[in-house]
Amino acid sequence: MTVKLSFSEALADPAQLSVTWELVPGRGAREKAQEHLVKMAELAAKDPRINAITITDNPGGKSAIAAYAMAVEAKQRGIDPLVHFTSKDKNRNALESELYALGRADIQNLLVMTGDYPGAGYAGSAKPVFDFDAVHALRMITKMNAGDYSKLPATNFFAGAVVSPFKSTEAETMAQYYKLHKKLDNGAKFIITQLGYDARKFDELRKYVDSNRLAVALVGNIFVLSLPVARLMNQNLIPGCVVTDSLVDKLAAEAAQSNKKELQLLRAAKLYAVLKGLKYDGVNIGGHGLGYTEVQYIMEKGEELSADWQEIAAAEFDHPQAGGFYFFEKDQATGLNTCQPAKRSQTGSSLKQSLMDVVHGVAFDPKAPLYPVNKAIAKFVDKSWLKQPFTLAEYTTKTVTNECRFCGDCAMHELGFICPMSQCPKQQRNGACGGSRDGWCEVYPGQQKCIYVKMYEGFKGQGKEERMKSKYMAPCNWDLHRTSSWLNYFNDRDYNSSKD
Ligand code: SF4
Repeated sequence: MTVKLSFSEALADPAQLSVTWELVPGRGAREKAQEHLVKMAELAAKDPRINAITITDNPGGKSAIAAYAMAVEAKQRGIDPLVHFTSKDKNRNALESELYALGRADIQNLLVMTGDYPGAGYAGSAKPVFDFDAVHALRMITKMNAGDYSKLPATNFFAGAVVSPFKSTEAETMAQYYKLHKKLDNGAKFIITQLGYDARKFDELRKYVDSNRLAVALVGNIFVLSLPVARLMNQNLIPGCVVTDSLVDKLAAEAAQSNKKELQLLRAAKLYAVLKGLKYDGVNIGGHGLGYTEVQYIMEKGEELSADWQEIAAAEFDHPQAGGFYFFEKDQATGLNTCQPAKRSQTGSSLKQSLMDVVHGVAFDPKAPLYPVNKAIAKFVDKSWLKQPFTLAEYTTKTVTNECRFCGDCAMHELGFICPMSQCPKQQRNGACGGSRDGWCEVYPGQQKCIYVKMYEGFKGQGKEERMKSKYMAPCNWDLHRTSSWLNYFNDRDYNSSKD
């Protein structure tokens, strides 16, 4: 008989495939979506195979009831909740306050994400707020867990994050994997994949984690895909979710059949079998309006099919993106990957980055010949009437070169001289969010490249791309807003001197 384990216990048990079931709280307080969630939580609580229910936070950037409110109700019904804890729409203080609320309700499992760009709201579109990225939030949680933040007793959060192996370009794939390292370095204990249906990509992530000896539990996402949703994902209308043309064609061919829902559930069960075969530590099952009996079917059928997972992977989940990049060479026998990393492109350069590097190397780097004299000048200017004109001159220069937003805590020289404050709509300082597609930014598809794609290409030209995985970038200190970042840098006030 299966003993019901908590989410963290199940992930730690090599004999068990942890199962979480994703439910969407929806808009309103007492509507169908909330009643469905509560009812399903009650059923999930009675099933020892379901370790937690996952509760989404305003998916698609649209307002819904707060995830933690529904998590409290789920907990009362006897099931461990896994709350999507996104850093969108909230500044760091609001995030901290939410963590206290979660801690008080004894809700420990957090899936930490940056979150979707805000969509339409009351009286127009909401103001985008991205004070922290997922790495900042993970770091704050880890410090709270260690009890070395705010002098409060240690918390006990079990935090994880998301990664997408389903990127089509080398730059986006590497940006995801580099950020994965930062997430783990800052406390993520488990990783849930974004949505995709390519077994070779699931295998790639498994092998990437194993070959880098990363200590993290992997959870594969299984979404019961209907044709309308598949089309939306295919057209890049649901950020980060990848459904290829070949899969849409398959679903379209099934659409005329009377048992199309059964086929959709069977596909989900097959993916369960593949993920179990690939030695994922858990699966996260979701789908529009999914009921308990359907989740039950996916688990049972998935177990039944798991012995045949390799044939299923080859037959059902061979959906590569056109010209898509894979980190490892293909294993021709299985259609998955060998352990041999694929050759990466040799191209990539940025003239602007090279020029700015020269300037930085001469004037700003602590080892630069002009550094001591610049530091002395900055000390003098800081206390003189020159401070205001100097600040204005810096701001004007940087506005011309980088559309400066006057944050006063400039990190451009760490980020390939690309400003995340002005050129990333989510102001990400530690790596790409999950929403890019084919190199384009989630918010401006077809118009603006993701800054981390540009950054990777620039660093690659200099053979320095690995720095994208190691350098933690502290969040902006808003005390410095509208002040000179050069004076802050030389006078030891910016993020380089912060204790974070
Ligand atoms: S620039 Fe990149 S990281 Fe920033 S919002 Fe766009 S896709 Fe996300």
